[in-house]
Amino acid sequence: MASDDCIDPNESEMTMIWILSAELATITFGYLLYHCAFNRTNHTSLFKVKGVQKHWIPMPRDFVEDELSKKSVFKAEELLSIDYVPESLPHREEELRSLARYFKTMIISPGTTSHRVVIEGPVGTGKTAVTKRFCDQMEKAAEKRGIKLHKIHINCRVHKSAYLVYLRMLKEFEPKFPKRGHSPEELLQMLLEILDNEDRYLLLVLDELDYFIKQRGADILYDLTRLIDDRLNAPQRLSMIVVGRKIPLDDGILDSSTLSTLQQNILRFYKYESNALYDILAERTYMAFKPKAVMDETLQVICDIASERGDARYAIELLLRAGKQADSEEADRVIPDYARQAKADTHPELRKEVFAALPRNYKLLLLAAVRQLKENRGAYVTMGEVEEMYHSVCEEYGHEPRAHTQVWEWIQDLNAHGTIDTKRSGTGQRGQTTMIGLSDVPAELLEQFLLELLEKRRK
Ligand code: ADP
Ligand code: MG
Repeated sequence: MASDDCIDPNESEMTMIWILSAELATITFGYLLYHCAFNRTNHTSLFKVKGVQKHWIPMPRDFVEDELSKKSVFKAEELLSIDYVPESLPHREEELRSLARYFKTMIISPGTTSHRVVIEGPVGTGKTAVTKRFCDQMEKAAEKRGIKLHKIHINCRVHKSAYLVYLRMLKEFEPKFPKRGHSPEELLQMLLEILDNEDRYLLLVLDELDYFIKQRGADILYDLTRLIDDRLNAPQRLSMIVVGRKIPLDDGILDSSTLSTLQQNILRFYKYESNALYDILAERTYMAFKPKAVMDETLQVICDIASERGDARYAIELLLRAGKQADSEEADRVIPDYARQAKADTHPELRKEVFAALPRNYKLLLLAAVRQLKENRGAYVTMGEVEEMYHSVCEEYGHEPRAHTQVWEWIQDLNAHGTIDTKRSGTGQRGQTTMIGLSDVPAELLEQFLLELLEKRRK
């Protein structure tokens, strides 16, 4: 037998050791590679390459890819945003029908009459969504029939003076119209001329007009009504819907003829009952979430929480937050507990979009008021105290504080927008001073939210 055929036991042991070491090296290398490439939680994954580099090299991590690779319960999250107006508005069919009844002559016999309707109702009852959907349908119906009808939806919280409202109306037809140089009356006359010359009609929605009136009075209603009523032998070009939680229709504010025209057509929106909220949520869930992602019990919990206020906006916000919670826990389903958690983090009165839209000066001042309220633990603080705190907040944020008169004006503005509450103190204790409180939001929650907003800008 050839000695070649014999296996030397020492040699076989060596071979085994080589194989084992090679395997171990492969496993170790694979393990390292896996960790550096896929480890999402530990972003300090490090490589130590012997002989090539003597120190640890941080591996760059792609946060965008990380986020994109995560699974989500949402199919179309944007459909839960507050600005989205769905095609169908369950439980508001009657209101939409009433509006169509009021305004149909604008299409049947344009120019013959002008209509004015007031829509009133608590927050989140669908006033804005209904008027937007309705005006869309009016515009489409008019277009089909060759009538030049334009809808203009103006949020009077944003367009805070009659001038800005009229300018916005005019810019619909003359986008390059200069911002300054004309009086409000001139703007209105120019608008009428355009409408007359081009044979156009206008359906104007003045949304959130209650805030506007609180701050600026009701002259705008008077002016627009007069503009309509003065046109005896000319086509009526303007009809309008005014919207608010409560439009102060009393003779202290409005003259009797404006009053009587407006009082004739008041459409009241009532709070949504729990079953209505359920239908609204169910439809939105179907559109915005993946199939079966939201448990029915979760919708029930949200309806129970939101039905006290009958506020669809609050309900939708809770749904959105519950979904986000599911995503952040990488869960497949939105369980009721996420909705309960969402309730703890959300306050129905914390209208985030309102606070987010405030200019930075206002945010700083509001932060000062909130901090002072927290410090005093009372319902109201004085203007002086807020101003003092405002100076230290400005210092903290490297912002030049503004003079008293300016700050006082901002306080009035915030009050008119329902963001804070002000009242005059009783005489005696500290003389007459303005007392400042918060409308409904807990100070702690508002402070947190403001800090987030201010922080975003600082980064
Ligand atoms: P309001 O103007 O009365 O404060 P909104 O019209 O802004 O209320 O409604 C608040 C939110 O609830 C919006 O996102 C809106 O799309 C939604 N919403 C209100 N009513 C309905 C409804 N009937 N069907 C579907 N969504 C609704
Ligand atoms: Mg609204």
